[in-house]
Amino acid sequence: MIKKKIGISFTTTNFQYYWNWFTENDLQNDVELVELSFVKNNVADVFTCDSFILTGGVDVDPSLYNGNKIYNNQPSSYQIERDNFEKIIFEYAQTRSLPVLAICRGMQLVNVLHGGKLIQDLDELNITHRKDGDIDKQHEVNIEQKTLLSQITKSQKGNINSAHHQAINKNNLGENLLINAFAKDGTAEGMEFKNKTNKAFMLCVQWHPERIINKEENVFSINIKKRFLEETRNSTMKKLSIINPATEEIITEINEDNEESINKKFFLLKEGQPVWASISVDERIACIAKFHALLDENKDELANTLTSETGKPLQQSHNELNGARNRIKFFIDNSAKHLAEELITTEGSTKEKIVYEPLGIIANISAWNYPYLVGVNVFIPALIGGNAVFYKPSEYSTLTGINIQQLLYKSGVPENAFQIAVGRGTVGDLLLQLPLDGYFFTGSYKTGKYIAERVATKLVPCQLELGGKDPLYVMDDVADISKTAEAALEGVVYNNGQSCCAVERIYVHEKIYDQFVDSYTSQIKKMKIGSPVDASTEIGPLSRKEQVDFLLSQINDAVEKGATLLAGGKSISSKGYFIEPTVLTNVNHEMKIMKDESFGPVVGIQKVKDDDEALLLMQDTEYGLTAAIYSKNYERAEAMMKKINTGTVYWNCCDRVSATLPWSGRKHSGLGTTLSFQGIRAFVQPKAYHIRG
Ligand code: NAD
Repeated sequence: MIKKKIGISFTTTNFQYYWNWFTENDLQNDVELVELSFVKNNVADVFTCDSFILTGGVDVDPSLYNGNKIYNNQPSSYQIERDNFEKIIFEYAQTRSLPVLAICRGMQLVNVLHGGKLIQDLDELNITHRKDGDIDKQHEVNIEQKTLLSQITKSQKGNINSAHHQAINKNNLGENLLINAFAKDGTAEGMEFKNKTNKAFMLCVQWHPERIINKEENVFSINIKKRFLEETRNSTMKKLSIINPATEEIITEINEDNEESINKKFFLLKEGQPVWASISVDERIACIAKFHALLDENKDELANTLTSETGKPLQQSHNELNGARNRIKFFIDNSAKHLAEELITTEGSTKEKIVYEPLGIIANISAWNYPYLVGVNVFIPALIGGNAVFYKPSEYSTLTGINIQQLLYKSGVPENAFQIAVGRGTVGDLLLQLPLDGYFFTGSYKTGKYIAERVATKLVPCQLELGGKDPLYVMDDVADISKTAEAALEGVVYNNGQSCCAVERIYVHEKIYDQFVDSYTSQIKKMKIGSPVDASTEIGPLSRKEQVDFLLSQINDAVEKGATLLAGGKSISSKGYFIEPTVLTNVNHEMKIMKDESFGPVVGIQKVKDDDEALLLMQDTEYGLTAAIYSKNYERAEAMMKKINTGTVYWNCCDRVSATLPWSGRKHSGLGTTLSFQGIRAFVQPKAYHIRG
């Protein structure tokens, strides 16, 4: 059974009281506590919780509510990281409609986050409210009738403990908030939502129920705790298990989005997009430049997370982060010039110009195999172009999606310009129902086709980066057969073979066929398969369990139809989704391995008699992403490259993407272009100005 989780925000003072407030009897075997710590910055854990407690502690930084910098009893320093971290918690709870109990400083923070102000010091009222050394004050409280608090405590008045010198400014209360209890001197002692429609449980108290005298019997503690536990147990979050494909262990259980939370996020983006679009391109680029730097600063942690959830060998996770930074650098350096308005006619009575405007709110539904690379192709130019982005990371790279979101926020991209949709395909489907202004998808042909059909009637741009069955042809004149085999092998097995532009089938001229196959086979047998965190590992596990059986079925189909298995062919029966790198010869186009996308470290090598036969076979596919030719002779290769119907062609290289060149697929490999200047313009729409006068 998955336990319900109460996230308690870490405080440097008296944290143990909050933790110990919940006894074994309270938690039974179905609820557990999670420390949410601004020190550890464990944001991903926020996404696993079913309810939250915002605790007491150091004053909220006055910059958050435009307060005075100097006031009585101010702390020697603030904890802005804590304020920001708890803002993430509170906003997460609000978009997911999860229960919140905010205590003392927690109540003050909630008011500030709703736009309210604080009394920065209670001055003479401190005699009643401020702690005396280590001892809480005690005073009376009056509860407002017909409030959530009166319902919970079933009281009109009582005695509570008190340990604060700041308070809610009731004349500057945040939006949709209501004071539900007052001290005799008029100090606000509790708060809740005024209009509770579509709002989850939220109760704020200025006192400390976790350490009040007689807390086991006191209704100002026990009733609140009981109700909060009830709300926690009643919350109905659907969970997504994040599994480590190398060990099959569950890393964590994340809350999936649902229709309600997706709608809330959409309204945030709707509000935020015009504001984001109204700042200058340079300011938006400056945020992205910070994101670029943060990717580097946090590279070890980001790479570890990526490897843990996808099984990508750790060095390749680092390579991916570097590659993503290179692409981002291209967008940083080149976007302004391609987004600037263009004066077309400056003379005569009618002037003409083109202005590039954002599309609006776009969906970025993404794949797991290179979450950074395929993600930045879309969300970076989209954000720079002034769009708000609804980013749907794959369910197999959710933690990376959360990391991307947090680093973008840290870089200055506003929360209402970038939101993530967490979950499986069903959550992606919810985005298709929204009135978004563009759909940018990376993934399989099957899902891409479905999305294109679903959004077609909206008449908004729909770009698809889909799969491939990319061929590599080795001509008889290659300079070095062994090196060519090495390059082809890398093209097949890099990222455990799970690249959209991985080499998926090899054709070799009959004159050098035997030598090539020998070299390829001897090299494949030397490859190190193992744990992706081991630095010497070249091939790790596949990311998805079902892919092992899928590849075995392709291999069996080929063998049944007469193929020869020269290496591999089996899954590896330890824990984890491992399969041996595999090579098959005597293959033909009757076999699935030569026609259907494999997406794993397996390949068929077919002998051809000449370039014409190679061309015919290379073209015999529904896909059209890339094709590679190895030869000494450029003219001979170019003659073939011109005829091949793919978005990318390679001479003496393969399985590579460049930020400066357009990335596009033809036929079932997709629609539209990312990267290069065309991938900058893909996220804006031209407006033609005819200016007379
Ligand atoms: P997928 O199609 O299974 O999933 C892609 C995304 O779509 C995921 O986020 C998924 O949750 C979402 N999704 C699934 N069903 C949906 C629905 N009904 N509505 C909306 N969203 C839905 O693909 P995948 O397994 O994540 O990725 C592998 C595929 O992606 C391979 O075919 C690969 O070749 C391709 N790919 C292509 C490129 C490229 O640049 N051309 C790059 C990377 C991957």
